[in-house]
Amino acid sequence: MKSFNKKISKSGSITLPASLRREYGLAEGEKFKIEVDKDGTILLHRTQGHCLFCGAEEEIVTHAGRQVCAGCISMMAAKARGAEYADEFDSTGR
Ligand SMILES: [Zn+2]
Repeated sequence: MKSFNKKISKSGSITLPASLRREYGLAEGEKFKIEVDKDGTILLHRTQGHCLFCGAEEEIVTHAGRQVCAGCISMMAAKARGAEYADEFDSTGR
């Protein structure tokens, strides 16, 4: 488990460390659910994200803590198979 020490601001905000935002592709506008355990432990659950590669917010799949859209997954799968048409996806971004 990773652990960070952070202070609450006057307005009640806590800044997520940049290294954590980078690692998990967290960006402005990301939505979270806040849960509090019986013992007072506060948990943040990511509820909505965007594709790490293209920024799409639809058809998001979470894998290894990162979110990728179905379009980018298809493109990566095509490239992994060595499909000739994979390069066509690159020019359109999908
Ligand atoms: Zn994408």
